[in-house]
Amino acid sequence: QVRVRFAPSPTGPLHIGGVRTALFNYLFAKQNNGVFYLRIEDTDQNRYVPGAEEYIKEALEWCGIPYDEGIGKEGEYGPYRQSERKDMYKQYAQQLLDSNWAYYAFDTPESLDTLRKEEEAKGNTFIYNHSNREKLDNSLNLSAEEVQKRIDSGEDYVVRFKMPVGETLVLHDMVRGEVKFETSLLDDKILFKKDGMPTYHLANIVDDHLMKTSHVIRGEEWLPSLPLHVLLYRAFGWDAPEFAHLPLILKPVGNGKLSKRDGDKLGFPVFPLEWKDPKTGEISSGYRENGFLPEAVVNFLALLGWNPGNDEELFTMDELIKLFDINKVHKGGAKFDPEKNKWFNHQYLQRQDNEVLAKELSHTLLEKGINTPIEDVTKIVGLVKERAHFTTELWSLSDYFFVAPESYDEKAAKKQWKENTGEIMAELATVLQNTLDFSSENTEKVTKDWIAEKELGMGKVMAPLRLSVVGELKGPHLFDIMELIGKEETISRINKAVE
Ligand code: GLU
Repeated sequence: QVRVRFAPSPTGPLHIGGVRTALFNYLFAKQNNGVFYLRIEDTDQNRYVPGAEEYIKEALEWCGIPYDEGIGKEGEYGPYRQSERKDMYKQYAQQLLDSNWAYYAFDTPESLDTLRKEEEAKGNTFIYNHSNREKLDNSLNLSAEEVQKRIDSGEDYVVRFKMPVGETLVLHDMVRGEVKFETSLLDDKILFKKDGMPTYHLANIVDDHLMKTSHVIRGEEWLPSLPLHVLLYRAFGWDAPEFAHLPLILKPVGNGKLSKRDGDKLGFPVFPLEWKDPKTGEISSGYRENGFLPEAVVNFLALLGWNPGNDEELFTMDELIKLFDINKVHKGGAKFDPEKNKWFNHQYLQRQDNEVLAKELSHTLLEKGINTPIEDVTKIVGLVKERAHFTTELWSLSDYFFVAPESYDEKAAKKQWKENTGEIMAELATVLQNTLDFSSENTEKVTKDWIAEKELGMGKVMAPLRLSVVGELKGPHLFDIMELIGKEETISRINKAVE
């Protein structure tokens, strides 16, 4: 059975790249009738940030990427928070010590620092591995009794992986194909600490095994850890899962990984939801708060590093589940294009039900103390959404439906409001006053007939009429607007403009 996981560390808000990793795991699980589970990797207590775990859960929920097992959805393999599994890891560290795949190291940070400086003075880079092991304070150079004595006396220690020497690992990655690593160049990573906490590497491998992970799909930044992970599986005598390392998401301009600063600079969010840093109080805006629709975000992210091989771009989640192909994910980084992001949202906004958008707009109306019936708000949304990229724009695109213009576009007024315009408009107001059927079709007919009868010319009437009702020369079909705001309001606006 396919079992894949999203395994974030709760060190801050989920970055958009993290959401893409979750999404690709989800798509892969669903297309294989598999399980997608969420595991919280919180073994590094120094980097733990309160609120991050809740944020991750809420973000996945908002995006529509639900997990089958995880926090709050305990399955067979829980608990799914590594801090709650703490006691389990020690025996696995011990197993590696017993089989000589790992050793104790007592080096203090100061002694390591001294050695590092000495090596650097000689022009070498210091690596804690076979080339330096003998110079260091570890159990490879000590008798078993001596090691035990130092542990018993309460000395600080860590357990390090004994990286094999002189082996070329030829590994397979579903995205990259064959990848090679020279073990002699790798270091003896810390697996376990005296305080009883495993490091990421040990906990990750143990849990992927115990939770029966079939495929590990994660960001490219973990590719350098792949040889260690594969060797850990070997050391334990376990079958390794298959691996896929997803390409980085790159800055819109320039080189390198997309960062929060790029978002700040160009005015787009890189987080799914708003995040308030618990330490600094700094608030970073999110996709949700910026009026993005989750379906649009998902569609956009799905195409960062993958495409179905044709020009099609708009896909529902179900379509993505059918089409997605992990083997066709690109190796090279995927450039983040904020304009494209916006385009997707525009597309989805047009497809969104007017009722749903009306509810969105109602929040703003409520705040402003405006009590328009929801049926009317729904119609209004239907008229203006064509011009909206974000739900947050619905108010500024439709405000004149709810409140009369307080000022008029000066340039337009100068050009369109002639000497006799006031008179004409006043007369039109009377004509409209006598119009019983105030439907869009009828007012249009009445107005146009009247213009023809008076031989006034369209422009002379229509532009000032729009200015009076809207305040500017834009907006949807004018008679639709008039129908919605009603006869009384239309005439009051015309009269106000005439004054
Ligand atoms: N906890 C790691 C992270 O924060 C998980 C990496 C992995 O998927 O192996 O990304």
